Amino acid sequence: MPELPEVETIARGLAKRVVGDVIESVWLGSKPEPLKSSATEIAATLQSRKISDVRRVGKHIVLDLAGENGKARSAQWIVHLGMTGSLQICSPEWELAKHTHAVVRLASGREVRFVDPRRFGRLSVIEKFEAPGAEPLQVSLENFVALFRGRKTPIKSALLNQKLLSGVGNIYADEALFRAGIRPRRRAASLSRDELARLHKSLKRVLKEAIKLGGSSISDYVDADGDEGFFQLKHRVYGREGKPCLVCKTPIKRIVIGGRSSHYCPKCQR
Ligand SMILES: [Zn+2]
Repeated sequence: MPELPEVETIARGLAKRVVGDVIESVWLGSKPEPLKSSATEIAATLQSRKISDVRRVGKHIVLDLAGENGKARSAQWIVHLGMTGSLQICSPEWELAKHTHAVVRLASGREVRFVDPRRFGRLSVIEKFEAPGAEPLQVSLENFVALFRGRKTPIKSALLNQKLLSGVGNIYADEALFRAGIRPRRRAASLSRDELARLHKSLKRVLKEAIKLGGSSISDYVDADGDEGFFQLKHRVYGREGKPCLVCKTPIKRIVIGGRSSHYCPKCQR
């Protein structure tokens, strides 16, 4: 499942290729699930629009659309990749992949295709998209600390709560908690300011590290057939149950919090 760094990487890769291009035509498949806005609305909004910018907001890819003459009302095309969604940029003669739900033809002659086998991804159009939570790479320490004040839920669940922070997923929550030395089950409100400061720093660091690693293989991802595995973060705890901690050699533990696997070192994390 693409998390924040993957979505950031994809958005950057997409931006390099489509900003400035104009949408000539839109084809949408017959499956209803991928379309959060109606097919008619999506097609009408995208048609003849110039893509003026592409960026990530939370785990969403936001494509800013301007009228071709720059005068029409601005709009945004929002892509959420869900579990298995991907965006391909290809030439029209490429064979249509199975599970293609949208094909957007550009004036440059290329196509942007949305492919999603499991159909948890969503396409929509909106005037102005706003993520419900704070942006993890930009949130200040003050605002970060305030997010968790009085919260009785485990810190792990609070990190995954998209209304608090937009786009933090399971892997990076575990990795950030390990780097901050904080156990995932701790109540959010019980964390000291020092601990939250460490977490604020480690969360940003782990996300930036992953974006940096992802950035080196953007082209492979966006241009090829959308297979995953385009970047490998060196996980220290995630998926390493029973393996020795890289710092102290204590076996990494796996517990379930709010239905999600959580990995931590019982010695390094308090
Ligand atoms: Zn350890």
